[in-house]
Amino acid sequence: MKSIVLGYPRIGKKRELKKATEAYWKKNITENQLQETAKEIKKANWLEQQHAGIDLISSNDFSLYDQMLDMCITLGSIPKRFQDLIGLKQYFAMARGLQTDKVDVTAMEMTKWFDTNYHYIVPEFTTGQAFSLNPEKIIKEIREAKSLGIETKPVIIGPITFLLLGKEKVEGFHRLDLLPSLLPIYKKLFNQIAAEGVEYVQVDEPVFAQDLENKAQSAFKKAYSYFANNRNGIKLILANYFDCYGDNLNLALDLPVEVLHLDLVRCNLQLDDILAHPLLDGQKILSLGVVDGRNIWKNDYEKSLRLIEKAKRKVGKANLWVGTSCSLLHSPVALSLEKANEQLDEVKQWLAFSEEKLSEVVTLQKLANEDTDESLLEELKENQRIHKLRRSSKLIHNASVKERVKNLTEQDAQRLSTFQERQIIQRRELNLPLFPTTTIGSFPQTQEVRVQRRKFKKNEISSQAYDAFLMKETEKAINFQEEIGLDVLVHGEFERNDMVEYFGESLEGFAFTQFGWVQSYGTRCVKPPIIFGDVSRPEPMTVKWSSIAQSLSKKYVKGMLTGPVTILQWSFVRNDQPRAVTCNQIALAIRDEVCDLEKAGIKIIQIDEPAIREGLPLRKDDWANYLQWAIKAFRISASGVADATQIHTHMCYSEFNDIIDDIAGMDADVITIETSRSKMELLQAFVDFKYPNEIGPGVYDIHSPRVPTVQEMENLLLTASELLPIENLWVNPDCGLKTRDWPETKAALENMVRAAKSLRQKQ
Ligand code: GLN
Ligand code: ZN
Repeated sequence: MKSIVLGYPRIGKKRELKKATEAYWKKNITENQLQETAKEIKKANWLEQQHAGIDLISSNDFSLYDQMLDMCITLGSIPKRFQDLIGLKQYFAMARGLQTDKVDVTAMEMTKWFDTNYHYIVPEFTTGQAFSLNPEKIIKEIREAKSLGIETKPVIIGPITFLLLGKEKVEGFHRLDLLPSLLPIYKKLFNQIAAEGVEYVQVDEPVFAQDLENKAQSAFKKAYSYFANNRNGIKLILANYFDCYGDNLNLALDLPVEVLHLDLVRCNLQLDDILAHPLLDGQKILSLGVVDGRNIWKNDYEKSLRLIEKAKRKVGKANLWVGTSCSLLHSPVALSLEKANEQLDEVKQWLAFSEEKLSEVVTLQKLANEDTDESLLEELKENQRIHKLRRSSKLIHNASVKERVKNLTEQDAQRLSTFQERQIIQRRELNLPLFPTTTIGSFPQTQEVRVQRRKFKKNEISSQAYDAFLMKETEKAINFQEEIGLDVLVHGEFERNDMVEYFGESLEGFAFTQFGWVQSYGTRCVKPPIIFGDVSRPEPMTVKWSSIAQSLSKKYVKGMLTGPVTILQWSFVRNDQPRAVTCNQIALAIRDEVCDLEKAGIKIIQIDEPAIREGLPLRKDDWANYLQWAIKAFRISASGVADATQIHTHMCYSEFNDIIDDIAGMDADVITIETSRSKMELLQAFVDFKYPNEIGPGVYDIHSPRVPTVQEMENLLLTASELLPIENLWVNPDCGLKTRDWPETKAALENMVRAAKSLRQKQ
């Protein structure tokens, strides 16, 4: 029984790749220096895995930006606008765009990798597009590893996933039509890899975790039967992860590959189906992904061994591998880096990051191989002991929180009156003009704001000094908003580093790491909090700054909160109870905060939920269940207030077509959404649905420093008012302004207010 790791984090233990890449972009280091850092990271990763005793170690799991982008280069799928560029310049231009005296090209699109928080570059396809092979990176990595004495299995994206995750850039064809011209490139690639003496190639086809149309199913058959005769003796590991094969199981089992990988963390039920399947003929090796690549909890050996043993009884040791559920790209690098800190201390023994997961894989492999080494049995016992401790730890359990969740009723998720009734009351109470103007929450987090926060965290300035600084910033923000005549103000969120971390830090049940970074896209990494226990709110979290801000103005200042689904979605979540339960606990904490804000005299409260859409399961069949509890959690958080209190929500980067009834089900009095880049196209879903509540379609793109003109925004608003009842429309940017600078923010918001005023006059 061999051990396999599907891929390893490439950011480096302390985000060395991020630092080097950004330095290269700023021209502070050369391309050679960047490649040198890359080489060091790859080397360290390989040696780490070899040292741990992993049998099947990946190459080509490294990337300077993204594995899909790498695959575009490998297959020569390079959009025309980049074709005059070469090398790294071309590579990064594809990822980020390039603007010089001579060149001006926009970046390729980027989107979420399945249901992870990782983002990939979306391949662009045109009719009759030609492909060509550039195997250099793959061959180089095979050789680099070999020079360290390590034979690797290169990882590539399979042809069906590569095509399906891309987009047609012209009409009149389907991207799968390109398969016949793509397959010979893979053939050549396999030939070149075979010439390096490689035995296995891991072909990632995670689209197996989604519903596949007939066209995709037959493309799979076609591609893999073509490979059967065109891979020069290379053995294929077909890797699906993030969910079951589901309805695609027959198809997958029928493909002529040597190894089939299963994600048994996300879906262990599939094992029974597979073991009982008539197509499992004793030829295929099953790679059992039992060590979670998506979460940070220590493996429960007993549980994993039960799965492995079940498979062993059926197919025998020789036909089984043990490994990670997916690439460890989605896990932080090394728990060993974390210095002891009070809060993490007890929790730490329950955790495993990538480095620790390697030894878990090997330990499981040995235990399953019936290695009778004393120390192994000790390890198993110790693992059982820790899991027992975790289950009964005081740190995790809060009886009153559990009780509250258990006693939740339908009524707790229901505002007192209907939206129509609330709207009348709120109009009377708030007395806002037509087309009320507002912003989404944050104002520029300038260098100075970040410096002061860092100093405060390092105890270099007192909390009084920090508060005084925040006070000054908040005051400036309020004054500015009043000056330009915004109708509903915000306090600016200067006290917040991040919209999830800020709340996690004040809630019980959350822990934080120092180095638990995970790649989000390119050089951007995130450090998700860890939800380890029952969530509760020891004291109000935002009332102080919201009240201060409100006291500075006669206009309404919105209270600003992150919603339960988003907090859940952007954290590492405990695996010992259903996500829905954890989400309800967070919802109750936010509900209490909402009520406290109301008590403090805040009349408008915004609960941001930008992550609702990304939490959708990969298969449509599973959507209804998720949406049911997720939307309800939001409603629980929002429904503790009087009719007169206006609840806003905000969602960005979302399409709404297929979930519009659920969005309406949130029953927020006002929803603000990102619509400017799509020229209000995203509004159509609300129109078709006859969305009854108030809505603020974003009138300008906050991702760009560009200042939109009054006319542009007025036009967008005109479009919106042709589509929706004008008395329901709000005027706001697409999202928060924290990544912007003040000059462009001021200019853009001034124009936005003018656009609203001009429109009011025309009514
Ligand atoms: N209130 C948050 C902000 O303005 C919302 C951020 C988001 O939607 N991603 O920054
Ligand atoms: Zn947003």
